[in-house]
Amino acid sequence: MRSWSAQNVPQLPGESIPLRLYDTSAGQVRQSDPGPTARMYVCGITPYDATHLGHANTYHAFDLVGRMWRDAGHDVHYTQNATDVDDPLLERAAQTGIAWQELAEREIELFRGDMEALRILPPREYVGVTEVVGRVAELIAKLSAKGVTYELDGDVYFSVADAPKFGQVSGYGEPEMLELFAERGGDPDRPGKRNPLDWLLWRAERPGEPAWDSPLGRGRPGWHVECTAIALDNLGPGYDVAGGGSDLIFPHHECGASEGHALTGEWPFARFYTHAGMVALDGEKMSKSRGNLVFVSRLRQEHDPMAIRLVLLAHHYRADWEYVPELMAEAERRLATWRSAVALPGGPAGEELLARVRERLADDLDSPGALAAIDAWAGDALAHGGGPDASAPALVRSLADALLGVAL
Ligand code: ZN
Repeated sequence: MRSWSAQNVPQLPGESIPLRLYDTSAGQVRQSDPGPTARMYVCGITPYDATHLGHANTYHAFDLVGRMWRDAGHDVHYTQNATDVDDPLLERAAQTGIAWQELAEREIELFRGDMEALRILPPREYVGVTEVVGRVAELIAKLSAKGVTYELDGDVYFSVADAPKFGQVSGYGEPEMLELFAERGGDPDRPGKRNPLDWLLWRAERPGEPAWDSPLGRGRPGWHVECTAIALDNLGPGYDVAGGGSDLIFPHHECGASEGHALTGEWPFARFYTHAGMVALDGEKMSKSRGNLVFVSRLRQEHDPMAIRLVLLAHHYRADWEYVPELMAEAERRLATWRSAVALPGGPAGEELLARVRERLADDLDSPGALAAIDAWAGDALAHGGGPDASAPALVRSLADALLGVAL
């Protein structure tokens, strides 16, 4: 389906720096080292409610990854899905009396507008699950032919006993896995399963639910295998980064990695599994089920989207943090300061600042460090009514745009 529009990204002078990034499965920061084409898949939204700050935090983190790769001269191939048919979407549609397709379409459109406003570069392929159900069913049939699945009352499960790498993405022990599996859409207690952690690949048609014809019968795919199929078809195995919020580490990315392994025989399915932290409000993680959400569209009514972006940049992507309105005020002040500084006729050395910002971002996306460097430059420029480098203000505008996505 339609992605959203991209802004032009300025080319920066000087030497770029290879990005080092935290890989959850390795438990450490490593150099990302992609080929000429850098391939990234980020799990998309389930469109039953507006984009909240937690979503924005995730897509923003991977936008920085893409910007660092672009700066280093890579062609960035980025794919994202939208889980446009799933239980929470169907439940919300039933509660509100809106057709599920209409609800999904409306919320995806709002999401596109939010992403554009925040200047998050669009994926090359933005794929709705409903567009690829037939292909997902084919891959499930392929998994069945490999003997790693079984059927239970018409539904198809992946057998965790046939997933030799299971656990290598999250590193979690079984008690933790069982708890998270139950919390995040799994069905550990369903009678007839061989192992409580076996996960659903295909859900046979239930009365009143949408279903598609397939060689597996009428039904719809499970959540994890959708992303595996879309990533595999667009990026191929061994792609560079699989991304999402830290609540996707398990079971979503764990199960997807084992599916990819079973389908391709290659391990790892993605070279990096990278995760953004959770955003809280009033002491609790922001989530639809709790209802403690700060919507991006709401913030946009009162604030410059660049200030919203600066709130995100002020936190390291892996950190869990809590939103308070004071963060917005602080970001507005920072934006005004930076804009005043780049309006001066000159400033302190711009190329030194560019090198410093690159160095901070290359270090596992240390965006707070990058902001501090620009703060220092702007403070110096304002204190002296400019500076010796006449080209610095234009360069600072370009670097804020290209590396941080902030238009000054
Ligand atoms: Zn996913």
